[in-house]
Amino acid sequence: MSKSNRTTQEWQAADARHFLHPFTDFKGLAAKGSRIISKADNIYLWDSEGHKILDGMSGLWCVNVGYGQQSLIEAAAKQMAELPFYNAFFQTATMPAIELAEVLAEISPPGFEHVFFTGSGSEGNDTIVRMVRRYWDLKGSPERQIIIGRINGYHGSTMAGASLGGMSGMHAQGGLPIPNISHIEQPHWFEHGQDMSREDFGLKAAGWLEEKILALGADKVAAFIGEPVQGAGGVIVPPSTYWPEIQRICDKYGILLVSDEVICGFGRTGNWFGCETMGFKPDLMTFAKGVSSGYIPLGGVLVGARVAKVLIEEGGEFNHGFTYSGHPTACAVALANLKLLREQHVVEHVRDDIGPYLAQRFAELNEHPLVGETQSCGMMAALQLVKGKTPDKPTGTAFASELEVGMICRKYCFANGLIMRAVGDRMIVAPPLVMTRTQIDEMMGLIRRCLDQTWEELSQSGLL
Ligand SMILES: *Cc1c(COP(=O)(O)O)cnc(C)c1O
Repeated sequence: MSKSNRTTQEWQAADARHFLHPFTDFKGLAAKGSRIISKADNIYLWDSEGHKILDGMSGLWCVNVGYGQQSLIEAAAKQMAELPFYNAFFQTATMPAIELAEVLAEISPPGFEHVFFTGSGSEGNDTIVRMVRRYWDLKGSPERQIIIGRINGYHGSTMAGASLGGMSGMHAQGGLPIPNISHIEQPHWFEHGQDMSREDFGLKAAGWLEEKILALGADKVAAFIGEPVQGAGGVIVPPSTYWPEIQRICDKYGILLVSDEVICGFGRTGNWFGCETMGFKPDLMTFAKGVSSGYIPLGGVLVGARVAKVLIEEGGEFNHGFTYSGHPTACAVALANLKLLREQHVVEHVRDDIGPYLAQRFAELNEHPLVGETQSCGMMAALQLVKGKTPDKPTGTAFASELEVGMICRKYCFANGLIMRAVGDRMIVAPPLVMTRTQIDEMMGLIRRCLDQTWEELSQSGLL
């Protein structure tokens, strides 16, 4: 029943009738009509009207090797023909899952020898909650229940993921967070630290964790979770002093440290894991997205020695798992993806060449009258839209949030064939790791044009 000869309008109508999209105002989208994406190659997408779009977001922070990679496609086809699915529940295993666990142990920081597979990042963070609490039970400290996350952190959209995250819009729906989750403010210098140096602010922001631990009672706190660099919150790169101080505080109170590597893992920051770039040693790491470059859903938890030892040697049965934990086809695709990253030295490409180049090109945007701050880390970058920059206040003044200046800029991105995301008035990119310098130049040209057009519109509306 091929329907590929439908017009865009027909697709949009069917979409509006039946498909409830994630994080979407259903009625608003139905009135407007979705953009239908129909194919992709390398870093480009095409919509159903034939428009070519540069994908500055790697799908959704995941298509790190770009589209159309033959070895991933073939790995899926081969595995599906041989054994599309078998579970790992009842004392069985499949070869791709075993092999992927082995490779993950090889590329992870020292001490990470074990992995628990899930189908997504959210399920990975649900697993974190189960595992952390199980660990403290087994250690004879069941009162250690509380997990501390951060305001504006993102850890997924299941009950546990949304609770660990600090998105106020999510907490406002469905009675979240669940009990025994607490939050501290994010290490966002532009918003909270402009009266001090970035380094001093990093120490101050980490100090909020110690204050929270003391307020809750150290013997009640099980773990702290954070993204090395906040992604969905707006590519917020913490000061270099932040994570080492967080580590010191967790160590001081014996609290487990969890790194949510769903975006930062697998080369995004220029190392295999974001914690390596940010200089800390977590006990547990959540992963998803880039592990399979988004070609197929896969996630999980990498379990460091401290927790693994207790779970394995003293744990007995761990009553947790998913039908698709260790899905052989997903694992086969991930293996092909990691092989490609290794053989083509993609992580080194990000660290030594393309990451620094993106940083340099983004820093140049600070000259633009609309740009109050730029930040980047490996292949993720952000710019903050502001007005009224002066030599005394080069970071400018924020726009009133109801003006939705970020959405104005995003409108021009769409119109110019660039996917760049708006988080409030922060414009962000996280392009594929395999980009060339020429492609970065092309992207930067589009970004400049969008900024100029946004400036033009704001200026004509008298909003500057
Ligand atoms: C995307 C994301 C998740 C959730 O992953 P899903 O696969 O969407 O469930 C969790 N943590 C971080 C940091 C993410 O960016």
